[in-house]
Amino acid sequence: MTSIEFQPELYTEVERRRNFAIISHPDAGKTTLTEKLLLYGGAIHEAGSVKARRAQRKATSDWMAMEQQRGISITSTVLQFEYNDCQINLLDTPGHQDFSEDTYRTLAAADNAVMLIDAAKGLEPQTRKLFEVCKMRQLPIFTFVNKLDRPGREPLELLDEIEQELGLQTYAVNWPIGMGDRFQGVFDRHQQQIHLYSRVEHGSREAVDTVIDVGDPKIEELLEQDLYYQLKDELELLDELGAELDQDLVHQGKMTPVFFGSAMTNFGVDLFLNSFLEYALKPGSRRSTVGEIAPTYPEFTGFVFKLQANMDPKHRDRVAFVRVCTGKFEKDMTVNHARTGKTIRLSRPQKLFAQDRESIDIAFPGDVIGLNNPGVFAIGDTIYTGQKIEYEGIPCFSPELFATLRNPNPSKFKQFHKGVSEIREEGAVQIMYSADESKRDPILAAVGQLQFEVVQFRLQQEYGVETQLDLLPYTVARWVVNGWEALDKVGRLFNTATVKDSWGRPVLLFRNEWNCQQLQQDHPELELAAIAPVV
Ligand code: GDP
Repeated sequence: MTSIEFQPELYTEVERRRNFAIISHPDAGKTTLTEKLLLYGGAIHEAGSVKARRAQRKATSDWMAMEQQRGISITSTVLQFEYNDCQINLLDTPGHQDFSEDTYRTLAAADNAVMLIDAAKGLEPQTRKLFEVCKMRQLPIFTFVNKLDRPGREPLELLDEIEQELGLQTYAVNWPIGMGDRFQGVFDRHQQQIHLYSRVEHGSREAVDTVIDVGDPKIEELLEQDLYYQLKDELELLDELGAELDQDLVHQGKMTPVFFGSAMTNFGVDLFLNSFLEYALKPGSRRSTVGEIAPTYPEFTGFVFKLQANMDPKHRDRVAFVRVCTGKFEKDMTVNHARTGKTIRLSRPQKLFAQDRESIDIAFPGDVIGLNNPGVFAIGDTIYTGQKIEYEGIPCFSPELFATLRNPNPSKFKQFHKGVSEIREEGAVQIMYSADESKRDPILAAVGQLQFEVVQFRLQQEYGVETQLDLLPYTVARWVVNGWEALDKVGRLFNTATVKDSWGRPVLLFRNEWNCQQLQQDHPELELAAIAPVV
């Protein structure tokens, strides 16, 4: 290692960094909770402004035409705010129609995850999928059960669902008092205090919070009798269940602290934020080619987890989002690019706040910076100063949508192949090919429909090729970990298509989970993986 000065500033900055992403199913309240966290964090003064900014941007921006046509945001943002001396980075995971492989990759840059659940719906499909990625990465998971101001399922039943379905131990840090119209507040089990909230209009400002110690006789006056007895019973039950909050288990991603509240009315948001900051993991060590590297390693290192093209069509620029892993980032610094060995001057760094670009000068481990360097970066690339270091790559995640991409115009053959290969290298979509050599058209494999649209749009805009897309009837992909040889041995397979990924590795496509399970039962000797091993 090169010897460079001890940097006390680096230690302090790592200590106060907390970085997380929210995993949820559409409509659980991610936007609302994000806004309320920003409100409590003092980053905005009135909730509603994130949405308002978004609407304003829609009207005025000259961003990607497709973004405007569809009225959605392709941009993932990193929201940075200070709270109680902590620097918090909230990595936005694209959801809804813009759900894509980027949603998964964002979790590679996160140190913690907040699992947001709608109390009436419990666990939903997108949350389960994202949970699997968190589990693979052993991220600590904090659960916020939302919308308690509406009739929902029993809190105990929700805890049970998390335990049974996700195999995650739960510990309720707070407990709701009433539900729906009668939702009055939460009991903080740690402090043994009751927080009674009163609503403020549209939840645009912080909710008024009355705090009462558990032994205070006023409780019986303030709470309606049945709610008081219900709370007492439920708390006794929870105590009997006996689980203790175990910080190590939380940090290993085996136990989730659970919070109940209502993002819309702000109930429980402050308690959640305070506990989260107390228990969340700070930026930690990461595996690399030279072993585990601590964030306080004084040289700057980071990796690209997301690329975004054409945010500004006038400049056709690409933004590479880099997670800072070690050292201090400074504007204009010169770094090495591990994959190509090139030297790059990072002259135009930027961070994104609520989708408005804003230039930054310095960043520390746990932060995310956006770099405009057209064509240089690919997903998973490491940049570093000092001794050469390369971080583990980001795996390919199981695609669920498949389509054959055709170029009907033979004179565009070259542009078509160049475009497809460049867009794939950037990680916008996975490309597969039929194992049958006579079928040469690439198969696009994606996690979200939007990825297809981006590919077609960019091929047309940047490479001048109009393409046709034929959807294929598959929804599940599995990599055959023990390779072509194992596959050849089992002979002909039914109800599945055999394709190869960009590295020539065998992948099986199935119409549904059931077909996949059937094959696995018939051929246990095939080792199948939903997430591709890193190349
Ligand atoms: P997202 O799709 O996860 O970003 O969800 P949004 O934040 O856009 O919320 C989806 C809908 O649920 C909106 O109509 C919100 O107003 C509503 N919502 C969010 N949080 C709450 C809550 O705590 N209580 C109630 N009643 N509605 C909520």
